[in-house]
Amino acid sequence: MEELKNCPICGSEKHSVFLTCTDHFLTKEKFTIVKCDKCGFTFVNPRPEQSQLAGYYESTEYISHSGTSKGIVNSVYKFIRNYTHKAKLKLVTKYAKGNKILDIGCGSGELLSLFRKIGWETLGIEPNQTAREFAVKQYCINVYEEAHLKEIDDGMMDVISMWHVLEHVSLLNERMQEVKRVLKDDGVLFIAVPNRISFDATHYGEFWAAFDVPRHLYHFTPETMGELIKKHGFAIVSFLPMKFDSFYVSMLSEKYKNGSSNLLKALYTGLKSNIKANSRRHDHSSMIYVIRKK
Ligand SMILES: [Zn+2]
Repeated sequence: MEELKNCPICGSEKHSVFLTCTDHFLTKEKFTIVKCDKCGFTFVNPRPEQSQLAGYYESTEYISHSGTSKGIVNSVYKFIRNYTHKAKLKLVTKYAKGNKILDIGCGSGELLSLFRKIGWETLGIEPNQTAREFAVKQYCINVYEEAHLKEIDDGMMDVISMWHVLEHVSLLNERMQEVKRVLKDDGVLFIAVPNRISFDATHYGEFWAAFDVPRHLYHFTPETMGELIKKHGFAIVSFLPMKFDSFYVSMLSEKYKNGSSNLLKALYTGLKSNIKANSRRHDHSSMIYVIRKK
């Protein structure tokens, strides 16, 4: 295990225990999430060494990396994913000033294939070998391992996206620096992450599926995302909610809490989360941050 002495965002040495969570998805191990006393950032600490983390993804059920659809949760996930891919395409094309996109954590490449269809130049980074091979074979997209990020020339990309990726990245600040280097000066960065101040997060507490320890190493709020972005010379241009995430996360959280994905209860909680979320507080279950260089 690796113990972080300093807050990855503000560098403060002082943090307190925020929550103890179980890895409900795979190992049933317990992990502690701490909260920085200074900036309020919450992160898993101590956490598995970087070399050990891959082991926490080794499951046939890890659906973001597989093309299989099994069970109702997976079916709903896939339906929503297709819908949200189209919404993401629309959103990106609205803000982009060019047509070169790098999707970091592109999974099996469905989203990038949509950009390719409309004539964009696409590049994917994906740590999972099976997903990478699927994307290359199925969609003929260039997808590389994470190490390839360093080989991309400076200022190459009009758009960089990380959809539910940053919470998984061990070297958070190094990743932000790389992204800044590769993005054009007038480029746009899209970061989507779960939001731990959402209603569904508070409602499910340690069972909230988006805590997903230790795969999710960081638990952002709009405030701490703002701090991270500022630290790396970026500014948030816009906040957008991901309204389907509350339903999917609630279904999974019900499963972790009560042993079955109680559909009605999950739909009710998901709906309540969206209704209670306030556009000024940006407290939806997951948020998309639209970001530019300062
Ligand atoms: Zn801090």
